[in-house]
Amino acid sequence: MVDSHRIKPPQGEDNHWWWELAQEGVLSIQRCVACRHLRHPPRPMCGECRSLEWDYIESSGRGTIASYTVLHHPRFPGFEYPLIIVLVELEEGTRFTSQLLQCEPDEVQFDMAVEMVIHEDPDGFRLPMFQPVGVA
Ligand SMILES: [Zn+2]
Repeated sequence: MVDSHRIKPPQGEDNHWWWELAQEGVLSIQRCVACRHLRHPPRPMCGECRSLEWDYIESSGRGTIASYTVLHHPRFPGFEYPLIIVLVELEEGTRFTSQLLQCEPDEVQFDMAVEMVIHEDPDGFRLPMFQPVGVA
């Protein structure tokens, strides 16, 4: 399991709201008010229509693995390797990079159905991760 040595993500004006929702257990996706395009990570301007107006939707947390990689090096202290890093195709239609839990590296597959779980570090910091659907 991951412990509290995690380097905290930088939070600024454009993305602090996303992390605050994550602390509440919500996986949110920024949405353009003008053209309804979904985008992640959060940023001030829509890449489709350049609108600066946005709101967000709450993701169901369900999706499939679009791509993945297994990290062996470099090994940062406080993480248990190998780490499975996944690109999840969320059912809302946007993609999210995260870590896959409850799965062995040789069992990861493309298109595997996954669901979001909120991982909490020992220091209380929370972030969305994923696990295969059906894992207890
Ligand atoms: Zn737009």
